[in-house]
Amino acid sequence: MAKYCVNKNADENGYHEVHTESCSYLPISSNRQDLGYHNSCSEAVQKAKLYYSSVDGCYYCCQACHKH
Ligand SMILES: [Zn+2]
Repeated sequence: MAKYCVNKNADENGYHEVHTESCSYLPISSNRQDLGYHNSCSEAVQKAKLYYSSVDGCYYCCQACHKH
């Protein structure tokens, strides 16, 4: 189980990226919304979708959920 967070600001394609807290490409803390602990990135993405309609997994830490 890992702790996840999502970028508050959308990326250049309009997606809010989901990261694990150990990712090297985490946004700065003021641009991070905590998503809590999840078993998989897909669960974390579902949680993030409660806040943002366009959500994508980080290419580096959530590759299974990186679609865009
Ligand atoms: Zn990441």
